[in-house]
Amino acid sequence: ATPLKALDPEIYAAISSEFARQQSHIELIASENFTYPAVMEAQGSVLTNKYAEGYPGKRWYGGCEYVDKIETLAIERAKKLFGAEHANVQPHSGSQANFAVYTAVLPLGAKILGMNLSHGGHLTHGNPANFSGKQYNFVQYGVREDTGLIDYDELAAIAAREKPAMITVGASAYSRVIDFARMGEIARSVGALLFADIAHIAGLVAAGVHPSPVPHADFVTTTTHKTLRGPRGGLILCKAAHAKAIDSAMFPGGQGGPLMHVIAAKAVCFAECLKPDFKIYSEQIVKNSRALAAAMVKRGYKLVSGGSDNHLFLVDLRANLPELTAKKAQETLDLANITCNKNTVPFETRSPFQASGIRLGTPAVTSRGFLEAEMDEIAGCIDLVLKAIGTDKEAAAIAESKQRVLALTGRHPLPYKL
Ligand code: PLP
Repeated sequence: ATPLKALDPEIYAAISSEFARQQSHIELIASENFTYPAVMEAQGSVLTNKYAEGYPGKRWYGGCEYVDKIETLAIERAKKLFGAEHANVQPHSGSQANFAVYTAVLPLGAKILGMNLSHGGHLTHGNPANFSGKQYNFVQYGVREDTGLIDYDELAAIAAREKPAMITVGASAYSRVIDFARMGEIARSVGALLFADIAHIAGLVAAGVHPSPVPHADFVTTTTHKTLRGPRGGLILCKAAHAKAIDSAMFPGGQGGPLMHVIAAKAVCFAECLKPDFKIYSEQIVKNSRALAAAMVKRGYKLVSGGSDNHLFLVDLRANLPELTAKKAQETLDLANITCNKNTVPFETRSPFQASGIRLGTPAVTSRGFLEAEMDEIAGCIDLVLKAIGTDKEAAAIAESKQRVLALTGRHPLPYKL
């Protein structure tokens, strides 16, 4: 058993560098998190060797008695965590989960009403380059320009006019509470199925910090690696009436063998989410997001919708730094060890490659133990860098900010060993 370091020094070196990067950077990408070492242990286990096409008790291969136990535990824990009638824990990713939902119940070409991508929707909600946009006829709703909030009245009017077979709700960059009860009423009023994609907010929903779509939606999907703080992967929840259609759409419809090592890690994650500490963690994510949002506003920045009720928000740079593109902002912040992503804002005026928004999220820094006071220090570092870009103070601002970041990350080391 040759260790990785000796067997493949190139890959080992790259992993070591990534380990150091994670330790020494402030991670503000809203879709990222630091998972539990126990989740990594399950993912690195012998389960990676096992094929288990099918479902517990109904496999195409022998030797599945232990993986059956694992998948059953994962399913039961997911159902308990979200109060769902049925759970499928096999999706390799959030996109695979969404694929299964559409293909389980909709014929090709069906009409779906989804959130405008530049208003916070996801690729799998109808982007023309994605299977969803290619295979279905998407019409879109969005947020109001003056408030940055989902316009439910407009949405109801579009739904009444278009009569979609399904309405998709859920976003990658929406900082306010989503009214799933209202979405359910709108969907039912036009005879549409409701599909809630809670990839981003699932942890907040599981902890009761954001209202749950489960009572209102026919289907709910999520990733397991964002606010849930688990392994990379997907999860589908649905009413019992759709269980069979969902399971067949996932396997054999969209995937082959499930990743049993990841499913074991999902089970570990769901068990953690059921503990009281996870609620405290989730509440702190929101406190930190609100504190970081307020600290940016205090320094003159404009936020889409004005603030945050969840784990993220979007800074619209056009208001106070009109010359600065989000691409440049992201790249320069990286030099100061602050990681975030450029993002289009609603009613964007630049190309998506340049963009005008930076998306800031707090799941990862909260996992690391950062509290509200540290959000003000992070905002101070971001502000120092952004306002110095293109001036003769740029290099000094990056250097000072990086030192301050290293002080913060040094106080909160990650619990991983290389
Ligand atoms: N849905 C939403 C709302 C997302 O934000 C994402 C990921 O960012 C996904 C689905 C897809 O997840 P994955 O990257 O695992 O395919």
